[in-house]
Amino acid sequence: MKNSLKKAISVLLCLMMVLTMGVIGVSAEEADFSVRTDCNGECEFYPTIIVPGLGQSNTWLADENGVLLTDDAGNYITSFPAYVQTDKLIKTLALPALKSLFTQSDAGLSEAAKQAVWDAFGHQACDENAMPSDRIVTEKYLQSTADTPDFGQTEVFGHVPFNLYDTKQPFDHMYYFAYSSFGNHLQLVDELYEFIQMVKAQTGHDKVNLVPLSQGGTLFSGLIEYYPEVVNELHKIILVVPALDGSTIIGDAFNGRFSIDDPDFLYNGFLENLGLLDEFTARLIEVALRILPDEVIMKVVNAALSTLVEDVMTTSTNMWVLCPSADYPTAAEKYLSTPERAEIRRQTDIYYQTQLHAKDNILNLVENGVQVFCFCEYNTPMIDVGATWNTQNADFIIQTDSTSMGAYFANCGETLPEDYVQKNTYCSDPTHNHISPDRVVDASAGLLPDQTFYFDGQRHDLTALNDIILKLALNLIECDDIKDVYSLPEFPQFNIGRITSNVRIYMNQVKELDTAGMSAAEIAEKDAAVAEAEALLDTTTGEHGEAEACEARLIDVLVRAGEMEAPAAEKDPTMFRKLSLWLYENYGTNGFSEMYSMTAKNMFKK
Ligand SMILES: [Zn+2]
Ligand SMILES: [Zn+2]
Repeated sequence: MKNSLKKAISVLLCLMMVLTMGVIGVSAEEADFSVRTDCNGECEFYPTIIVPGLGQSNTWLADENGVLLTDDAGNYITSFPAYVQTDKLIKTLALPALKSLFTQSDAGLSEAAKQAVWDAFGHQACDENAMPSDRIVTEKYLQSTADTPDFGQTEVFGHVPFNLYDTKQPFDHMYYFAYSSFGNHLQLVDELYEFIQMVKAQTGHDKVNLVPLSQGGTLFSGLIEYYPEVVNELHKIILVVPALDGSTIIGDAFNGRFSIDDPDFLYNGFLENLGLLDEFTARLIEVALRILPDEVIMKVVNAALSTLVEDVMTTSTNMWVLCPSADYPTAAEKYLSTPERAEIRRQTDIYYQTQLHAKDNILNLVENGVQVFCFCEYNTPMIDVGATWNTQNADFIIQTDSTSMGAYFANCGETLPEDYVQKNTYCSDPTHNHISPDRVVDASAGLLPDQTFYFDGQRHDLTALNDIILKLALNLIECDDIKDVYSLPEFPQFNIGRITSNVRIYMNQVKELDTAGMSAAEIAEKDAAVAEAEALLDTTTGEHGEAEACEARLIDVLVRAGEMEAPAAEKDPTMFRKLSLWLYENYGTNGFSEMYSMTAKNMFKK
C-alpha cells in the first residue's frame, strides 16, 4: 500500500514535470530530425543559427524535483544572473547593518554580505565535475523561429530584432540556440553541434550560417576546435562583437585585480565612470557610503566579490571561457589548483588551447571556403570594475583586441600617432587603407582585415538597438552580395554606433497622431519630423548625433500633442559633486564618524 502510494506520487511528479516543461518548450523532448521546410533544402537561403550572448537565453529556476518555480504573480523565476528574494535579503542584512551602524564597525555585515551574495547567485555554482545545477532549466527552441511559439519569438526577437526589418530570409530558416551562460562549456559545444545537425535535417540544407554574438563566440571557437569536420557544414559565419579572447573584466576578476578594492577609486570616480548611473545619483551614493567607516565598506565589498568569484564564477567553465588567454595561466593557478577543482581545470585547460588555436582555426575555415565576417565596436571605455579598465580600447564589455581578432587601436579618446604606418599583419593588398578616418583603428592588424566592420562609439550591450548592424547582419545572412568591406559602399569598413530603436518607436507613434486639433504649423512639423526619421532609418551610414536629434524632435511633437510627458531634466549634480569632492579632499575616504575625531584632532593641533 505504502509503495503504491509512493509510486503514484512519483508518477504524478513526473507528469507535473513533463507538463510544466512542455509548456515552455524545455522538455527532454527529442529533437525532431524530419524535414519541415517546403524548399526541402533546394532554396537560395541558408538556414541561420543565432548563438546568443551572455544572459540572452531564458533560464528558469526549478526546485529539487525539476518543477519550475513561480513568483507570486505566477511567472517563472529567472535564474540569470541572480535570484534575489527581497524578504530574505532584508532578513540577512538588516540586523548586521544596524549593528554595524551603531558600533561603526563590521558587526557581522561582511559575513551577511557573503550570505546574501550566495543566496542570490549560489544556484549558478557548478559541481566538482564542472556540471551546473539541475535546478537551472534552459528554455530551448528545437524548431525554427517560424515554428517557435509566441513566447519564444518574443524572447528571440527581443534580443535580435530581425523582425523589424524587411527580411528576405524566411523565418523557417532562422534558429536560436539557447543556452545557460553559467553552464558547462564542453557540453554546450556538443549541444551546438547536435543543434546544427538538427537544423540541417529540419531544413533539408547541407550547410548553415552561424551568427555568434559576444559569449556565443566562445561556443563557436569550441565548435571549430572540437569538431573540425564541421567546416563542411558551414556556409558563413557572422561574428558580432565576439568574445573570442574573453573579456578583461573576467581576466581582472579572476586575478583579483579589482578597481573597487581601492578605496580612493571607490569614493572618487568609480560610480560616475561606471556608465550606468547619472552623476547626481552616483555622487549621492558616493557621499552616502560614508555612513560607515571606509574599512567596513571595503570589508563588505571584498567579502561580496570573493564569494561571487571564488564560490560561484570560478566553478563555471562557461565563465572561464571569458577569461583572456593572457590572464588564464595565473588565474587557473589561483583558483583551480586544489584537487576538488582538478576536473574543472582539465576542462578549462582544453579551452585555453582552443583560445590559442582560435586564429588558426578561423583561417582554416576561410581556406576551406567558409565566409567569415566580424563586427567590432570601439571607443566606449570598459566598465570600470577591473583594475585594467582604462588601459585599452573597448566596447564597454569587451576589449577590442578580443572582438576584432587582434586589430590595433589607440585607446578611447586618443588617436594613433601622426607618423603611424599600418601594420599590414594580415592584409597583403598595398592599396588598402585600413586606418579608420578617426585614426583610432588599424584594421590591418586584425585577422580578417577585409571582412571586419567597425562601429565607432557603439556600446556592446546596446548592439541590438543599432539598425545599421542589424541590416548589415541580415544582408550577410540573406545573400552573398558582400564579399568584403569594399563590396557595398553603403556598408563601409568604418561606420558609427547609433541607437535608433526609439526613433522607430516614436516615429510610429507620431504617424498615428490625430491631427484634428492641430494647427497647420504643428501638422507641418509632425510631417517633417516623420520624414526626417524615415530618412535617417533609410541610411546605413551617418554622423554621430543624428539619431539623438531625430529622437528629440519626435519627442517634442509627442509632448506638444499631449501624448507624452516632457522628459524630466537631469538633476543638477553640482551640489553632490562639490560635497563629495570636498569630503574626499578634506577627509579622504573616511566615514562620517571618523571625520568628527579628525576634526577634533585638528582643532586641538591649532
Ligand atoms: Zn531552403
Ligand atoms: Zn586589406
